[in-house]
Amino acid sequence: MTFHGIAPSERPLIIPVFITHRGCTNRCAFCDQEAIAGAGALPEEVPGIVEKYRNWSAGDRPVELSFYGGSFTALPVRELGEYLQAGTELIARGLVGSLRCSTRPDTLNPGMAKLLATSGFKVVELGAQTMSDRLLEAMDRGHAAEDTRRAVKTLKKEGLAVVLQFMSGYPDETAADVATTCRAVAEMRPDAIRIYPFLPLAGTKIAQRLQRKEARFDPVAAIERAADIFLAAQEAGIPTIRIGLPKDNLVETPYPDNLAQVVVAEALARLAKRGEREFILPAAWETSVAIAKKSGRWPEEATVVWDRES
Ligand code: SF4
Repeated sequence: MTFHGIAPSERPLIIPVFITHRGCTNRCAFCDQEAIAGAGALPEEVPGIVEKYRNWSAGDRPVELSFYGGSFTALPVRELGEYLQAGTELIARGLVGSLRCSTRPDTLNPGMAKLLATSGFKVVELGAQTMSDRLLEAMDRGHAAEDTRRAVKTLKKEGLAVVLQFMSGYPDETAADVATTCRAVAEMRPDAIRIYPFLPLAGTKIAQRLQRKEARFDPVAAIERAADIFLAAQEAGIPTIRIGLPKDNLVETPYPDNLAQVVVAEALARLAKRGEREFILPAAWETSVAIAKKSGRWPEEATVVWDRES
């Protein structure tokens, strides 16, 4: 089986600007962006952030300015306009090549998608989390799986690339919830996905429920289900651009330091168990094969061809 990564030359340098919870129409039960990214940046702070990043990182990679950590397309009109202006001015100055944002699926309509496409956006990331309506309700997301399906179509129609963000291992998640997500990933065909195994962030509604033992969280299941989603995406030819949150942002996590490699190793070992013997893998995954071998779940007769381009 050929696995899909993204060639280093095609990976943009993403300069993240956090708009911490701005635009969010409600507070999801698991979310605390402040704990992850701090208070966020005002529109007038954006040029300074970009200039600082540009000084650190040289190179020919395309540069993308990305608004993360809130619901960009639900910002109040004036604030949205100010961020858009900051972004388009940076493009005009040649400091960034394009814009990117993450947002809620239920805040996208054709007019907003057109506005993004004509303002220099190339990629929109949607916080899908899961495609199980039951679980979306448990997460207090305030939208349905159908909103994600609709948003993907709306964005694609404007020629925007779509990245879907999924969470695995949410407390009381069932195998059926994950199977629903896996089927939907293949149907929706996003350009890429991210997978975030659930983290109980202190003070969130779900962390309080866990503390009161009203819900159950199993980090091992979260890893296994991340592997389910990863495999479903790979089988549909869709790359996974990230597994897990950046480590430096987090105080405490129940996961191993090499979470992404462990998830990929789990997926590879599972495929090997199913009888797969020929693997064409991105060179960056050598550690995952080593982990699968060490676990004794890698057949000796399996062959690996390393794809140095992805
Ligand atoms: S998950 Fe997204 S929509 Fe929900 S509170 Fe966090 S940033 Fe806002």
